[in-house]
Amino acid sequence: MKKIVLASKNSDKVREMRLALKDLPVEILSLADFAEIPDAVEDGATFEDNALIKAKFFREQTGLACLADDSGLEVDALDGSPGVYSARFAGWHANDATNNQKLLAELKKIGAAESTAAYRCALAFVDTDGTEILTSGKISGKIKTVAKGSGGFGYDPYFYIDASRTMAEISPAEKNKISHRGEALRQMILKLKERFL
Ligand code: IMP
Repeated sequence: MKKIVLASKNSDKVREMRLALKDLPVEILSLADFAEIPDAVEDGATFEDNALIKAKFFREQTGLACLADDSGLEVDALDGSPGVYSARFAGWHANDATNNQKLLAELKKIGAAESTAAYRCALAFVDTDGTEILTSGKISGKIKTVAKGSGGFGYDPYFYIDASRTMAEISPAEKNKISHRGEALRQMILKLKERFL
């Protein structure tokens, strides 16, 4: 049976993608099955570049087809920042709390209490024959400096999907329906079904 490696160590993402890919006649592995492989150097300028860098790198390392994602937040008042630096906005040892502190500090610096923003996600699939498939998704919203909700992760408590609700206040199922990652994943599944079914 065809094998596909998911280029992620994040067990939540792996579970979500495994579920989404369950109708395909493929065996899904993850980087947890290849503990000895080093991290890819994600030095691309866009989410698409980084997803492709990761998919190609782990395809080479494992010799198997690979599916990789990259995602992040773009805040208009900060000229699209943190963008591809979303995971390490507050530095190499950043976590969600320090990244959110940095986000609030950057908005304060320019005197903004809120800004339009978007989450973006790119997915790249690279097959053993070198075939590349790219899909992407986006959700627009607003960053406000008042946090609400305890669900989700990352910048979700500050990301308002409408006038009153943040991404941290909705269920995982609802998030999956509307999110940048959900959209990119649905498009990818359609393309993988065309290829493998
Ligand atoms: P990566 O795609 O795992 O590299 O994630 C990039 C970073 O973007 C994460 O660490 C979060 O800070 C941010 N991010 C991506 N997607 C989301 C989301 O759905 N909610 C909140 N933050 C996100």
